[in-house]
Amino acid sequence: MPFYLRNILFILGFFLFASASDGNEKSGSEKDEEALVNLIQQSQLSKEKLVYLVDSLLNGDTISYCVLDALNKKLASEAFYHLPIDTNPPSHDLYCLWDTENPNSHAELPLNDTAYNFELVDKLNDCGFAMPVNGIITSLYGYRDGKMHNGIDIALKTGDPVVSAFRGMVRVARYYGSFGNVVVIRHYNGFETVYAHLSKISVKPGDMVDPGQLIGKGGNTGRSRGAHLHFELRFKGYPVNPRYVIDLEKKTILSETVVVRKTKTGFTAFPEGTIFHTIKRGDYLYKVATQYGITVKQLCAWNGLHKKSSLVAGMKLKVSQ
Ligand SMILES: [Zn+2]
Repeated sequence: MPFYLRNILFILGFFLFASASDGNEKSGSEKDEEALVNLIQQSQLSKEKLVYLVDSLLNGDTISYCVLDALNKKLASEAFYHLPIDTNPPSHDLYCLWDTENPNSHAELPLNDTAYNFELVDKLNDCGFAMPVNGIITSLYGYRDGKMHNGIDIALKTGDPVVSAFRGMVRVARYYGSFGNVVVIRHYNGFETVYAHLSKISVKPGDMVDPGQLIGKGGNTGRSRGAHLHFELRFKGYPVNPRYVIDLEKKTILSETVVVRKTKTGFTAFPEGTIFHTIKRGDYLYKVATQYGITVKQLCAWNGLHKKSSLVAGMKLKVSQ
């Protein structure tokens, strides 16, 4: 059965049900009209269903005035055309909080092992990824002089444009402690991104932004030595290593789909379908295990290694079953 037919049948099914449940003394056609008007006025009626409904009505001989009137009102309603039907902030199902003051609000870590798969870019709306600033990476994510660095630093000159990485809604746009002027954006792909030390902010909370859209100018505000952008990728408020999601040299995303998995202290993200990890200089078992949200014990078992086995650059380790 073609898809549109099923939808018309759904509408007719509802229609009959609504008529049958109406117990007062009206003629059959009046009851039908009333049910149809009720259906059209439903706030959750999707655009698709409305289109199918109009199609099916046009196939009939006559359309009563009250049905036509209800249809016209529905089609003319601003809300139906100009606002997204879901007016919640992006990824609302993942986040309970929408705090426009505090960049650092984060959810409780789930107790169980949790993994999510996400499409990073919105192919349907032709929305991709843009590198926030086209500069040299001066500092990576990870421990630096015994302190955790939750993002990457990208060199820039004060006043250089800084753009949004993905499509999303601005959550925070203000001066905040060591971040200086900071913008936090919540994206439809489930992540949040943070842009700190800006000299100027060009957006406000609630603004929708596309990848590549200007959100501010680079600078040296907050705790910063020299102009640069401090950029973070976060999931539910926990920083994840952007390097496992973004190819920092090519300035593209590594893959369109990523896995986000719980670790002991937060979350980690990596391309979906990753089975092997190639050992690089500076890798050690715990680091590799954490990167893929698995335990050292699992990593050793899958690769026939011992906890104290030494790793050699170029070695390939199985990191997923
Ligand atoms: Zn930084």
